[in-house]
Amino acid sequence: MGLTRQLTALAYGDDLLVEIRPEQYLRANLQQDWRATERGPALYCQPATWLEVLALHTTHPASGDLKNEVSWSYSRAAKYSVCPRAYYYHYYAAWEGWLPTSPAPVQRAYLLKNLTDLPRWIGTLVHDSIKFALARLKAGQPVVGADLLKQMRVRAKADVENSRSGRYRQQPQPITGFQEHYYQPDYLSSAWEIAIERAESLLQTFIHSDLYADLCRQPAGSFLQIEELQSFTIAGTKVWVQLDLVRQVASTIYLYDWKTGATAEAELRLQLGLYGLFLRHLGLGDPAQAIQTGVYLLAQDQWVEFELDEPFLAQTQTQVEASIAQLRGLLLAQPANLAQLRRFPMIADLTVCRSCQFRELCGR
Ligand code: SF4
Repeated sequence: MGLTRQLTALAYGDDLLVEIRPEQYLRANLQQDWRATERGPALYCQPATWLEVLALHTTHPASGDLKNEVSWSYSRAAKYSVCPRAYYYHYYAAWEGWLPTSPAPVQRAYLLKNLTDLPRWIGTLVHDSIKFALARLKAGQPVVGADLLKQMRVRAKADVENSRSGRYRQQPQPITGFQEHYYQPDYLSSAWEIAIERAESLLQTFIHSDLYADLCRQPAGSFLQIEELQSFTIAGTKVWVQLDLVRQVASTIYLYDWKTGATAEAELRLQLGLYGLFLRHLGLGDPAQAIQTGVYLLAQDQWVEFELDEPFLAQTQTQVEASIAQLRGLLLAQPANLAQLRRFPMIADLTVCRSCQFRELCGR
């Protein structure tokens, strides 16, 4: 057609995406879109929106070695219940967004997926600091509270700088980037200092708690797991869990969890029940004994206890199986874990959209 410029084209089966300018695409189907012209057959291409590019991407298997396996987690189900479209962007559209050869909308979905925000970041700072303190207890080398706070502040400052400078755009997964910087470059700079002070206050609550004093007295050998990402299988599906702390004393299992924000009781019970199922799967403790569970609500400085007994675990298993069946039922071709955009609608509640990391893709 007289073009002298080299263009990049990506093939998704018979569908072709042609990048005509940075971040602008044409699409055509190699079976259906040929037209006879006086110069011979020409491929008839039409402009493709970013959502059309994503729709194409998520209905074809991954091109790289890393396959997008079907899996389930508490946070995955929670994301779907807030917004099906956000779930689609997070678990399907963003897949392979780390590859420089992926289309720009896929790379953008991956960037947005990895953005954090101030409330979530506070939780991450506190959880990571507690994890470090407990790992040191387990190693028999307790850390001084003041050092823990100092370390957290140094890390927090580095996170803020990495985000403010835009360094996270090169490596969105390991480097912290904030939604606030991405969407509102003029966001109040004092907000980060206030967030750091909030994280310090929550960490101090933990350091000075009776719980931590008690944990400091426990034998290091009783600490079984500290925030390890692990998986097991329910209804033939890989289920991911990350338990804050598990201890064993004789045949009794103790499960601990900490929260920096508000969590509805029903959600908390589902999450803890899932952890209980995982511990039973590992065969830890005496199955005739309930798992002793405690949740530390740091914002309220409140300790809440639960007992995870067999009837409760059976009820959780039923709930998880139902959620797995629902999410699997949305997929296009289950073995390949492919998703069609139209099955994941946007929500009407704009108040949720206002703080959603994907609002750029939705135009909200
Ligand atoms: S902007 Fe709104 S509709 Fe779009 S993904 Fe986010 S929450 Fe869902």
